[in-house]
Amino acid sequence: MLNIDLHCHSTISDGLLTPAQLVTRAATRGVEILALTDHDDVAGLDEARCEATAKNITLINGVEISVSWRGRTLHILGLDIDPAHPSLAQGLASIRDGRVTRAHNIATQLDKHGIHGSFEGAYGHTSKGRLIGRLHFARFLVEQGHAKDIKSVFKKYLVKGKPGYTKHEWATLSDAVGWICSSGGRAVIAHPARYKLGKNVLDDLLNEFRQMGGLAIEVITASHTKEQALLFAHHAQRMGLMASCGSDFHGPDESFYDLGQLPDLPADCLPVWHDWIKKA
Ligand code: AMP
Ligand code: MN
Ligand code: MN
Ligand code: MN
Repeated sequence: MLNIDLHCHSTISDGLLTPAQLVTRAATRGVEILALTDHDDVAGLDEARCEATAKNITLINGVEISVSWRGRTLHILGLDIDPAHPSLAQGLASIRDGRVTRAHNIATQLDKHGIHGSFEGAYGHTSKGRLIGRLHFARFLVEQGHAKDIKSVFKKYLVKGKPGYTKHEWATLSDAVGWICSSGGRAVIAHPARYKLGKNVLDDLLNEFRQMGGLAIEVITASHTKEQALLFAHHAQRMGLMASCGSDFHGPDESFYDLGQLPDLPADCLPVWHDWIKKA
């Protein structure tokens, strides 16, 4: 089977490795096709491409777009996008601007709970201030001794009902899918099991997504159990959607799957990359 990983993060968003380091690690670990999918930003793709050429692996231009749908946050991957496409680039820039306001709101909430200086602290974990997100706050909170590791931060802070939570409006689903499709890419619902949707809401989402031009759902990914992978393989087939796989790698000590070690897609899935592969 082809060693393919279509979801990972660099320092451009909330990963710990630079785009070049990430590609080097992927190549060393046997990945043949890698998509870099930073949150709401495509600025790492040029550097990743240079390194991919040097290391002789195929790089797919990707992005992971933050979306609000029926009061929930969803992540939509864009694969094989054109990063220079104007509506995509403008849309992503406006999401990143919104993230700065949100980060100030998060810091205000943490202040109320006696945790001060978190905006600056989180900012210190970003890459030249390009994108700021909850994982940067989480690293600050661990560093300050408020939690023992990243996982426990997301149990005690930054989530609904806990200190540091703020509601935020991301892009609409139709805008995100539209930007991806108009730039020539394929839209994929990232880690669908994470949203814990009931059957009817899930069906609504999959139907709406497909009607908007969405093509696939992520079946193999770090936050899915083996059972969830099988379940979402079934949903994909049932809804006429293709299947994707990606580690959602953020860094060597922060991620469940390292690059290059994903299980195969369940049988009967149509891989989202099925018509990309020119080699046998
Ligand atoms: P944001 O897009 O700023 O809301 O941040 C979301 C990011 O936080 C995700 O992409 C993960 O990197 C990280 N994250 C969210 N929940 C968890 C969790 N339970 N454990 C580890 N990382 C998480
Ligand atoms: Mn992340
Ligand atoms: Mn995600
Ligand atoms: Mn991700």
